[in-house]
Amino acid sequence: MIEVTGLKKSFEDNHVLSDINLKVKKGEVLAIIGPSGSGKTTLLRCLNFLETPNAGKVRISDISIDTAVDVRKQKRAIRDLRQRAGFVFQNFNLFPHRTVLENIIEGPVIVKKEEINEAEKRARKFLKKVGLANKENAYPSALSGGQQQRVAIARALAMEPEVVLFDEPTSALDPELVGEVLSVIRDLASEKRTLVIVTHEMAFARDVADRVIFMADGQIVEEAPAKELFSSPKRERTKKFLKKIL
Ligand code: ADP
Repeated sequence: MIEVTGLKKSFEDNHVLSDINLKVKKGEVLAIIGPSGSGKTTLLRCLNFLETPNAGKVRISDISIDTAVDVRKQKRAIRDLRQRAGFVFQNFNLFPHRTVLENIIEGPVIVKKEEINEAEKRARKFLKKVGLANKENAYPSALSGGQQQRVAIARALAMEPEVVLFDEPTSALDPELVGEVLSVIRDLASEKRTLVIVTHEMAFARDVADRVIFMADGQIVEEAPAKELFSSPKRERTKKFLKKIL
């Protein structure tokens, strides 16, 4: 479903990602862990071109983008790629002056040119799925962080993406609100959706992910089935990191 080849990203002379190669199968849940500043978020953002990589190729489903071709000439492919890959941000990124329902139908109506009635019907289905059926007319500011993030997940799902990318989806939340968001993501995983999750929630990564990637200094240091990576990490760098946080 996802294939990344030779991906590199720098911010001026800060080389943040060096030669990342990565594959994710359909229905697989991949967690990306690693120390702060190791390039996890940048990698996720490069997957749907929220950041433009300096080199490499990204394929999601049937859409491929090769940075060897001027990406300014691939705007349409980038738009299509983003429809394949929904993105859930750390800080929710809801439109503050729109209601919950309006937030969710925005993409389907504007980007996919769906009928408002159709879009609303589907939005309600996803709101129910994330446990917020009674909040469709609320504004984001009236919701807790956990509720806002669940709306953001419903909004991503409403575009019917083939993959959902989560960028530290619980790190902006008060501890007591983390569980409700993880539980929604857990449900998506059990439906065999393809998910890529950058997370600091190690227990969650171990239990929900099929595979875990440990990143440090802009590289994939180790990659293994989730249980294996946590119980018997092979690289010293991984062992040191896990020892520190577990
Ligand atoms: P992680 O998600 O593992 O904490 P990030 O991908 O957020 O790591 O950041 C990796 C490095 O890239 C950091 O040194 C960070 O300062 C830098 N970086 C990230 N985004 C930008 C940006 N938009 N402009 C400049 N530097 C950035």
